[in-house]
Amino acid sequence: MFDLSKQKITIGCPTCNRKHQVTLQQVANGATVKCSCSTNIKLQDKGGSTRRGIGNMNCALKKFGK
Ligand SMILES: [Zn+2]
Repeated sequence: MFDLSKQKITIGCPTCNRKHQVTLQQVANGATVKCSCSTNIKLQDKGGSTRRGIGNMNCALKKFGK
C-alpha cells in the first residue's frame, strides 16, 4: 500500500530560509519543527495545499493522525 503519510515535502524556515524535510503526516498533525536557528516552525495546512496535494487521501490521513 502506498503510504502517503510518509511522503516528504520540503519547507523553508521563515527566519533563515533553511530547508527542512517533513512528512505529510507531520503537516496533517500540525507538528512543530525546530530549526537550527532556534526558530520553531509550526506546520499547518493553512492554504489547503497539503489537502489539495493528497486529495482524497486527506480524510484517511487525518484519521490516521488522531
Ligand atoms: Zn531557521
